Amino acid sequence: MERTHTCGQLRAADAGREATLMGWVNRRRSLGGLIFIDLRDREGITQVVFNPSISAAAHSLAEEMRPEYVVAVHGVVRLRPEGASNANLATGEVELEATQAEVLNPAKTPPFYINEDAEIDEPLRLRYRYLDLRRAKVKNNILFRHRVVKYIRDWLDKRGFVEIETPILVKETPGGAREFLVPSRIQQGSFYALPQSPQQFKQILMVAGFDKYFQIARCFRDEDLRADRQPEFTQLDMEMSFVDQENVLQITESLLTDLVESLGTHRLLAKPFPRLTYDEAMAKYGSDKPDLRFGLEIVDISDLAGASEFKVFQAALATGGQVKALRAPGLGHYSRRELDELVQFAQNRGAKGLMTVELAEGGPKSPLTKFMTAGQMDRLAQLLNAQRGDLILIVADRPDVVAEALGQLRLEVGRRLNFMDPNLLAFAWVLQMPLLEWNDQEGHWQSKHHQFTMPMDEDLHLLDTAPQRVRAKQYDVVCNGTEVGGGSIRIHRRELQEKIFRLIGMSDEEARGMFGHMLEAFEYGTPPHGGIAPGIDRLVMLLSGAENIREVIPFPKTQSGVDLLTGAPSPVTRRRLADLGLTLLPEAARTAWQSDNP
Ligand code: ASP
Repeated sequence: MERTHTCGQLRAADAGREATLMGWVNRRRSLGGLIFIDLRDREGITQVVFNPSISAAAHSLAEEMRPEYVVAVHGVVRLRPEGASNANLATGEVELEATQAEVLNPAKTPPFYINEDAEIDEPLRLRYRYLDLRRAKVKNNILFRHRVVKYIRDWLDKRGFVEIETPILVKETPGGAREFLVPSRIQQGSFYALPQSPQQFKQILMVAGFDKYFQIARCFRDEDLRADRQPEFTQLDMEMSFVDQENVLQITESLLTDLVESLGTHRLLAKPFPRLTYDEAMAKYGSDKPDLRFGLEIVDISDLAGASEFKVFQAALATGGQVKALRAPGLGHYSRRELDELVQFAQNRGAKGLMTVELAEGGPKSPLTKFMTAGQMDRLAQLLNAQRGDLILIVADRPDVVAEALGQLRLEVGRRLNFMDPNLLAFAWVLQMPLLEWNDQEGHWQSKHHQFTMPMDEDLHLLDTAPQRVRAKQYDVVCNGTEVGGGSIRIHRRELQEKIFRLIGMSDEEARGMFGHMLEAFEYGTPPHGGIAPGIDRLVMLLSGAENIREVIPFPKTQSGVDLLTGAPSPVTRRRLADLGLTLLPEAARTAWQSDNP
């Protein structure tokens, strides 16, 4: 038998035609002497009916079929009888009447149902990922991901971008994220690293004259994992020559806009994307990746708070802190217990405390009423645009603590009030990031993005005198509270690059040892260039509405970096280690597999 159609293909117009389908048994049921099988493949489900008076052989074979058996069926397409069509299936108006069948491969009873959208333990799903991937939801995510990537490739190709692969075995770059190391067998004692991104190669491609580059690039970071992190992930890596920041923003924004509009799954909140400076984002939303699907801006009430009699406010302000507030619309009825919960929430995020003001019927209810005049209370409500029935939340602390606590409270309030519309995409640009941040442990500056980022022209003169005030030509594109991608205009002159290396604590010798190839390349005619790298996994997750990144990655790893399907990482034999010139420390050896004859 040869497959003629997929299981998602047959329609009423095919009635009377012969067809051969191959796929998996999704469900089997017997009814009045007939056997019905829902046959499933990637494209859909088709009902097959086995009638003993049409083919006794096929019918008796169908009796043996169980869920997940792989079968081939040949037969005639029939319109389903009146009232028996299934509006939920694309093929629901027809069925295949089997004249011939074959079991291509039986299957054990799967450890979970494939044909139901039930909650299943994630480790079990990952262990049997090939079964999990048969389930409609995950399968659709993977197909959707293909569509997104295909759209991006075609879009960029049409605009003159060239996809170029860069190496996976690369030179270690200390300073950024921790990299995975790969020991070299041929040069024992030396190591490759897996790239945290193709950053250096894409810049070198600009030196080489490939002025518009992209790559659907796998990146590796050996970092502690969080819910939305994987040790390997995919980004849309892009780089362009002869561009300034505005060009990169424009091209990225039109790609994202066209993508979203062509998929038609979401509404864009704003076009063009709003632009915020880093300082603005931190001040108004307490985050450099604000969720702009709703307002609820954080308001600085330091002046008002300083004029109050409240000691906590005064102490915070006297030590360089701030007093800021957030309005929680309509939550002014919260009980003592609910308020305590919010206080605990703020404390868990580092705040020493949380002051609450309920704008109740009879006037504001708050411990603050003892320390503020009625006029000051009115002024507070006015500053926050708050009305009767609202709740005001106040934090007094160091600026970073205030930002974190109120930023998280803002999200929490947004969640409680259902302000996070899942059908809305609120993209925005965050610009003018600080170039450097202070590394307290090592006592020197370090790059906030990466060391190839160009400072803003107007801040160049501050590099020697006030490095903390230097802003970068760096941009992040954020959406619904997550960072979708970041990039920068790069340094393309050797002297400035060397200056930055020195500033971030590298001796000239170290810089030459690690980045000599970049410095040298900059002396052979390097065009001005810049780029960006939106994360594909994050983007697909946002666009598909998946609740975590593992749902859109075909073979993801667990939070502890384990591939439950294959069992990686796994110990290796002593002989393999010896090949590489390695021995294990006793602690590591104890857990390792010591047999040389597995
Ligand atoms: N390589 C950077 C990153 O992975 C992105 C860029 O600057 O283009 O974050």
